[in-house]
Amino acid sequence: MYLNLIFLGAPGAGKGTQAKLLSEKLGIPTISSGEILRDNICRRTRLGLEAQDFVERGELVPDDLVVSMITSVLRLPAYQQNGALLDGFPRSIEQAKALTLALKTVLNQEIYRVFYIKVGKGELAQRLSGRSICPVCNTTYHDTKNPPLVTQRCNKEGATLYRRSDDTYATTLNRLQVYFNHIIPLVDYYDRKGLLEIINGEQSVEKVNSEIYQKLGEMARTPQLSLA
Ligand code: ADP
Ligand code: ADP
Repeated sequence: MYLNLIFLGAPGAGKGTQAKLLSEKLGIPTISSGEILRDNICRRTRLGLEAQDFVERGELVPDDLVVSMITSVLRLPAYQQNGALLDGFPRSIEQAKALTLALKTVLNQEIYRVFYIKVGKGELAQRLSGRSICPVCNTTYHDTKNPPLVTQRCNKEGATLYRRSDDTYATTLNRLQVYFNHIIPLVDYYDRKGLLEIINGEQSVEKVNSEIYQKLGEMARTPQLSLA
């Protein structure tokens, strides 16, 4: 199956969690802009060195850097064949326009649907302060809300989980502020295009996932898509 889906939402809304679950169900690979940036920072690539200060301050990395990063990922065979579940990109109108153009020119494809996962500020702060991640498969856990089976170990890889360096209190506040400055125009942009689905992200991980899946199933009853 070929699909391009976008997950919009605040830091901590559950974009990464949901994109991964859906990827396992549908066999469509994810693209997480944050994950790619963290990997580049860790490997000290040119992109990583340019992006590092922005990520550490919780600010947006400049559009041109992120757009060329995502465009080159979209050219990889797995994405050309299956489409992409986009987590964390786009984050600005400029990025949204660049994505539409890149999909059209690189792949002759379009965005199928945009899922906006909505969660209130209090819940977001709690989620970010308890988040931990597997260094091998990037699966995300939460100390109390979504704990691993064995404390601090990934259920799939057994690796020791780590905390993101930008999940500190001060950086989190900045990230949330940056998010709220950008989200309304972005949501309006996709709403006007008729692509937006709003999901209540304050439900359990499983419930949010089944709601997204159900919405896709409803659309599958139109001739363009089959989830079979
Ligand atoms: P995002 O990618 O939007 O920043 P994550 O998927 O990393 O968000 O989730 C943030 C934190 O919240 C993680 O610790 C994750 O385990 C937890 N989480 C995700 N979805 C839910 C949910 N529906 N209910 C409770 N906790 C959740
Ligand atoms: P979260 O899980 O909090 O939503 P991400 O992992 O998506 O965070 O992003 C972490 C950081 O990487 C952001 O705070 C920002 O500095 C940078 N970043 C990620 N995606 C983008 C993007 N699309 N545009 C600009 N900066 C980005």
